[in-house]
Amino acid sequence: MTEKTVALLVAAGQGSRAGGDVPKQFRNVAGKPVLAHAIDALAAHPAIDSIVIAVGAGQQATARAALGDRRVAAIIEGADSRRGSVSAGLEHIAADGGAARILIHDAARPFLPLAVIDRLLDALEQAPGAIPTLPVTDTLVSHSGEVVDRNALVRVQTPQAFRFDAILAAHRRWDDSREATDDAQMLKAQGTTVMLVAGDERLEKLTYPQDFARAEAQFGAGRSMRVGMGYDVHRLAEKDELWLGGIQIPHDRGLSGHSDADVALHAIVDALLGALAEGDIGSHFPPTDPQWRGAASFRFLEYAAERVAKRDGSIEHVDLTLICEAPKIGPHRDAMRARIAEILQLPIDRVSVKATTTERLGFAGRREGIAAQAVATLSLPALF
Ligand code: MG
Repeated sequence: MTEKTVALLVAAGQGSRAGGDVPKQFRNVAGKPVLAHAIDALAAHPAIDSIVIAVGAGQQATARAALGDRRVAAIIEGADSRRGSVSAGLEHIAADGGAARILIHDAARPFLPLAVIDRLLDALEQAPGAIPTLPVTDTLVSHSGEVVDRNALVRVQTPQAFRFDAILAAHRRWDDSREATDDAQMLKAQGTTVMLVAGDERLEKLTYPQDFARAEAQFGAGRSMRVGMGYDVHRLAEKDELWLGGIQIPHDRGLSGHSDADVALHAIVDALLGALAEGDIGSHFPPTDPQWRGAASFRFLEYAAERVAKRDGSIEHVDLTLICEAPKIGPHRDAMRARIAEILQLPIDRVSVKATTTERLGFAGRREGIAAQAVATLSLPALF
């Protein structure tokens, strides 16, 4: 019995209410396609094993372009109705080995907080279905003008979470002559319990042009600044080459270590990973892994910069301090800045290299090793 948790993203709308020529799930908002926001949120959640997308007829290529280098398990063709698209997705997943749990999400709700996924999966421990809801705060009246008791009502959002077999059975049993606007009502029609968990205002659906404008104002400008620090030490030893700050420096000794031991680049890598809160250089490039023996450290730095890009972040500034008695750093400072800027694809004025001695005190003072400290400032989307 599989324990997989799969996300099914319904992106089959031909949607014209939002304006523009492109269906809304492929339009850009807050820096990337609507569809890509939801994919990134789902992919970032540790419990979700794979993602299947259901798109409309003829939308495969557009969907692939909107995904960029994001990986999904499958892009399948949905149907004219939402229910038909979900059914097609469920049958695809069933044929592909099934799942224990499934999250069914509308691509038009791009801003998906991970905490909502947590609440849904927790609720699935107790019921076969769980949906995120919000209270109704406006006064509601019927067309005849009668006030409807809003306390009896909630607004239903997606993703909706189900035990896979339960929702698959509900779809298979559904009377085709009836329409269903969401999956929870299909499960409830079978007499099955669906739990309500707290939704989130950010999950509102993008439907009309003004929804895009509002989302852009709310999420597009919202960036948060992160600062990460890194520190590293390598031993000076009998060695022909000294690599420091991404360049080779003439010196009578070199730094020893598993890679080329470029202590400066290692400190910057840790500063970048620190700002992302994604572990440290050792967890990404274990010294026990033979493939990094003698590796050029610029590859580690390129990797850290890619991690920043993957989070839609940008590096605002890097500040490095080298701590050593020798060699003298001053003559090489600008070459190091240029090389680090080149690796990180930054203007050179965003890279600072400084150096100090320790007044001949300690290991650096005795020329036994070189230490490096780095601080990196990142700008990341402030969505969640
Ligand atoms: Mg190191």
